[in-house]
Amino acid sequence: MDFQQDQERLESILAATRAAALQFLQHLPERPAGQLPPKLAPDTLPEQGSGAEQALATFRSKYESWLSGSPGPRYLGFVTGGSTPAALAGDWLVSSYDQNLSSDGDSIATTVERQTLALLRSLFGLDDDFEGAFVSGATQANLTALATARQWALQRLGHDASEEGLWNVPRIPVLAGTPHASILKSLSILGMGRQAVEYIPCFPGRQAVDTTALAQRLAANDGKPAIVVASAGEVNTGDFDDLEALGELCQTYGAWLHVDGAFGLFAACDPDHAHLLRGLNAADSITTDGHKWLNVPYDSGIAFTRHITLQEQVFKAAAAYLGAGPDLLHRTPENSRRFRALPAWMTLMAYGRTGYQELIARSCQLAQRLGQYIEQSAHFELLSPVYLNIVCFTLQDTDTAQRDAFLALLQRDGQVLLTPTLFAGKPAIRAAFVNWATTEQDVERVIDALERCVLTVKQ
Ligand SMILES: *Cc1c(COP(=O)(O)O)cnc(C)c1O
Repeated sequence: MDFQQDQERLESILAATRAAALQFLQHLPERPAGQLPPKLAPDTLPEQGSGAEQALATFRSKYESWLSGSPGPRYLGFVTGGSTPAALAGDWLVSSYDQNLSSDGDSIATTVERQTLALLRSLFGLDDDFEGAFVSGATQANLTALATARQWALQRLGHDASEEGLWNVPRIPVLAGTPHASILKSLSILGMGRQAVEYIPCFPGRQAVDTTALAQRLAANDGKPAIVVASAGEVNTGDFDDLEALGELCQTYGAWLHVDGAFGLFAACDPDHAHLLRGLNAADSITTDGHKWLNVPYDSGIAFTRHITLQEQVFKAAAAYLGAGPDLLHRTPENSRRFRALPAWMTLMAYGRTGYQELIARSCQLAQRLGQYIEQSAHFELLSPVYLNIVCFTLQDTDTAQRDAFLALLQRDGQVLLTPTLFAGKPAIRAAFVNWATTEQDVERVIDALERCVLTVKQ
């Protein structure tokens, strides 16, 4: 089969694809939340291809049954959103339209990205002077923001990092209480080094930075530039740094404030949790994810900044054929850019402010329900208050081997997928509620599975 022959069969290829997608999605609730992948025979590159329909059939029979139910209602590992119907529809069309959002001028698509960023600013209550860009996820958004912060810091010391690099420049301290692993990864990529992070103590029993300790460290910095990384939604517990206090400190001491709100920025949608983000607008840069609580398919993250000129110094790709306009390619690590905004635009227009308010409030209520069960259970121990949508807990009197055996049993049981962590030196477990489709009945099924598996492990 060649391209042209397949093109003539496009209608039936897309019909088969639609049928495959529908079947997968309609059976999501029964699909095991996680799977242990088997070892399968390697593929060989065919001399003559079999055409799209046969390739799809081969994929489905060999691989599809081993995919996880991660877009489904009881995959509570990591911080894993599903996909709303509107986001899915948008994402399908992204591939069909296949636009390149690098530069303005040959398509309306870049306008849609800018409009979507404005919708998101409205959803989060961000000031209009936050400029943004879609990237592949919060890691890339953190990288983008920290590169801009680095440009700012070294400019204050008389260097242009984007032109001159990091040869013979002073270290810039990065101050944080509970930075996400992607912050460290970004610092490594940026040549600042993971060791640039200075961990500031947290308040006792909290995952939020002690503002007095941070003030002392900033005061000792003698007005030299520093970068403060705030967690708006710490990944193990959902705890928040006090953004209002951090903003004031950064103002006083002339530091850059970056807020990592990969999932926590969505607290803005829920009146009961919006106070957690008080002071957010004092940030210099903000990260959030589309593929978590917005429930759009992977890959989708957003980097916002008040300092777009600095960001464009870092990311500009100067070439005669690329043009030098205010094009989006000068804002992000990528030059060719996927039409990532469309799924986000679709879901925001389809469900609106109220839809997201309900989703965020429901996720938080479900987390509270699981937290109450854990707290009352004789088998488990709640390790942190449930601040938002994450439940951090462990088995009573446990060790790493037993915790791992429990999680493996739970995965084989198939009802729920949870992921391990370390909390205050203890082997712990996280459950994150992020999916629009998760219901109270799902939480009851999760609790049943926890009971079943803990009894087996504790025997
Ligand atoms: C998930 C997460 C990230 C990384 O996001 P990716 O989308 O996986 O790149 C960064 N920070 C926080 C707080 C997160 O929860």
